[in-house]
Amino acid sequence: MQLLSRHVAVIGAGASGLVAARELRREGHTVVVFERGDQIGGTWVYTPEVESDPIGLHPNRNIVHSSMYQSLRTNLPREVMGFRDYPFVAKEGDEERDPRRFPGHREVLQYLNDYATEFGIYEVVRFECEVVFVGLVEGGKWKVKSKSKRGEVLEEVYDAVVVCNGHHTEPRVAQIPGINAWKGKQIHSHNYRNPEPFRDQVVILIGSGTSAVDMSREIAGVAKEVHIASRSVADETIEKHPGYDNLWLHSMIKSAHEDGSVVFQDGSVVHADIILHCTGYKYHFPFLETNGIVTVDDNRVGPLYKHVFPPAFAPSLSFVGIPWKVALFFMFELQSKWIAGILSDRMALPSQEYMMEDVKAFYSLLEASDTPKRYTHNIADYQYGYEDWVATECGCPVSEEWRKQMYFAAIENMVTKPETFRDEWGEYDHLVLQAHEDFKKYAL
Ligand code: FAD
Repeated sequence: MQLLSRHVAVIGAGASGLVAARELRREGHTVVVFERGDQIGGTWVYTPEVESDPIGLHPNRNIVHSSMYQSLRTNLPREVMGFRDYPFVAKEGDEERDPRRFPGHREVLQYLNDYATEFGIYEVVRFECEVVFVGLVEGGKWKVKSKSKRGEVLEEVYDAVVVCNGHHTEPRVAQIPGINAWKGKQIHSHNYRNPEPFRDQVVILIGSGTSAVDMSREIAGVAKEVHIASRSVADETIEKHPGYDNLWLHSMIKSAHEDGSVVFQDGSVVHADIILHCTGYKYHFPFLETNGIVTVDDNRVGPLYKHVFPPAFAPSLSFVGIPWKVALFFMFELQSKWIAGILSDRMALPSQEYMMEDVKAFYSLLEASDTPKRYTHNIADYQYGYEDWVATECGCPVSEEWRKQMYFAAIENMVTKPETFRDEWGEYDHLVLQAHEDFKKYAL
């Protein structure tokens, strides 16, 4: 079968852009990866630099891409975190490397560099080159305007665009009645690097995700008091955290006041110095012009067929990495194989009408189950169903049993033993052995 070779622009050289580039080239496409930073790795490029607006809302603030904090270790075991075709195995004996099952962020960046080197991806990346405009031109092609660090603007036309720009840079913050009159300092976790700015302060931390858990413990080590406000606990909750004498768990904040007080739904009042919003991020595609056909509405990117293809533009426009609460690298890899195979005509998409109907049916299901719009891309409850569907479309093996079991064990441990889950993994050694057996099959 004669495969079509297309000229494809990939936006971003984080984990999703790298695997997209690799899979597209493997399928015979020519690829240019645009990266506004000076190195690959996206989120995994740690920098001590923070933005000029600590809460990350000012439209003219300097943008720092990565939200990585100094002490971060992965929240998944490396076997589950890596790509299937290039397993994330420890480089034993190399003192520069971090062999732990849940390694630090630097090790992930080194793994991504190994990946880019192995598959010759550097040669197609244009560094310090920001995509500032993507729009449709005649013939179903896309105009891509990019700007170099020196300010030179280049306009080119591509057969297809794959958007891999990451979704952990544009902060979402909690709406708190009275916050405008409150005099304290507000920070978003995007601008958290280490606990020092919180020393001797009374801190309210909003959120209960992995980063919130890590940060609350770390900050409690230096702060006067830390009060966690969580949407996922009952309204009357107020409890001291076992093992700490300055860490409390509350229900959500009810209001903030000019005198510096913050009132929780549990009725308690705290005079706080800082509110740290660990409240997640928004999808943001400032460069994309689709005449309102593809939109971001309350954090729903749509319409997207299977979270990847906007039906009106499929297959020439696609997105890698939209779903969340999932082992991301493996999903990026499958989505990229699917996009590459569709673009070469080795695989086919259903009609535009069918895809639109599918999206509508999906939205109806979400509505029927009272799922808020902003959770459209939370695929936690069906991630392996989703991935197995994409894998089957691509003719790839479905998720291995060890992969699923290790993922769910990590998630459970994260909740039941948040302080120790990264280092107490012994009971799952049999899954690690199965993973390494499979790695021999998949690795090239
Ligand atoms: P990114 O890594 O964000 O890369 C996007 C790239 O696009 C960046 O390099 C950026 O510079 C570039 N870019 C953006 N806009 C443009 C433009 N207009 N023009 C050119 N280039 C552009 N995942 C895990 O699996 N395990 C973990 O333990 C884990 N921990 C995390 C901890 C934190 C604090 C955060 C924020 C995320 C974590 N994640 C984790 C999720 C992580 O984001 C993903 O693992 C993954 O790295 C995302 O890759 P990406 O390529 O989609 O985006």
